[in-house]
Amino acid sequence: MSAMLFSETLHEGWAQTFRMDEVLFEVRTEHQHLVIFRNPFWGTVMALDGIIQTTERDEFIYHEMMTHVPILAHGSARKVLIIGGGDGGILREVTKHAGVEAVTQVEIDEKVVEMCKQYLPNHSAGAFDDPRLNLVIDDGVNFVRTTDEKFDVIISDSTDPVGPGEVLFESPFYEGVKRCLNPGGVFVAQNGVVFMQGEEVTNSHRRLSPLFADVHFYHAAVPTYVGGSMTFAWATDNPELRRQSVEVIRERFEASGIETRYYTPELHVGSFALPKYVQDLMLA
Ligand code: SAM
Repeated sequence: MSAMLFSETLHEGWAQTFRMDEVLFEVRTEHQHLVIFRNPFWGTVMALDGIIQTTERDEFIYHEMMTHVPILAHGSARKVLIIGGGDGGILREVTKHAGVEAVTQVEIDEKVVEMCKQYLPNHSAGAFDDPRLNLVIDDGVNFVRTTDEKFDVIISDSTDPVGPGEVLFESPFYEGVKRCLNPGGVFVAQNGVVFMQGEEVTNSHRRLSPLFADVHFYHAAVPTYVGGSMTFAWATDNPELRRQSVEVIRERFEASGIETRYYTPELHVGSFALPKYVQDLMLA
């Protein structure tokens, strides 16, 4: 019997293909198509609407960089908001910060949380039971435009701007983020693999710039987000937040007592250095 294959449908005319040794779960939820399968190299893999979301083998890179860069740059984050993040990887990393007193997570699809708890247990690693968590099942754009809560760090761990994730890349969402961010706060967001999705850098920069004093990007190479480095959007009214020295970041990192497999203070600081073509895309 020929092997079952999963071929990603994110890009036109080019795709990564995974052998599916076992399909653990597949459903069309109220919002999107969800499949979780086993692959001999990547371990358990989850895809939404034909797009790879996360794999057991390389998830640490993305989750560490999307969490520790904003929280350690901020330096005294007490309240954190996660938009999306249904697999629980970001939540796991956020709850490692003892200084964080409250985490609100707004995820549109309860099925993703339920299935990832069951089939990707190491992603959340029990973080969904953390007493600091307030889990809200809602569209992130509704939440940020209506909540009366304020946050020090907001992390948008969304799908690509396809389907339910589309609204999380548009101005109404960004305006909502701005209204619920505390002074000195910082917003970061999954902003696509820039070599393949350069228009996301241009669009995010154009839409965030009227709202924040400092809009930039940082990056990390995540193997299963194919096509080169993934960029993360960065927006804050405090331009100093991304210009701190390695020494300051290292001091905070060591004080946190957090063990990482990708993140280092040097990578934190260096990840804001962008290739010339990315700088050009920002201003296109
Ligand atoms: N790390 C992945 C990536 O970079 O592609 C994203 C991981 S996580 C699975 C993405 C989550 O965003 C999913 O759980 C999805 O249900 C959620 N999501 C999509 N649109 C959303 C919206 N408008 N509001 C809240 N959550 C949303």
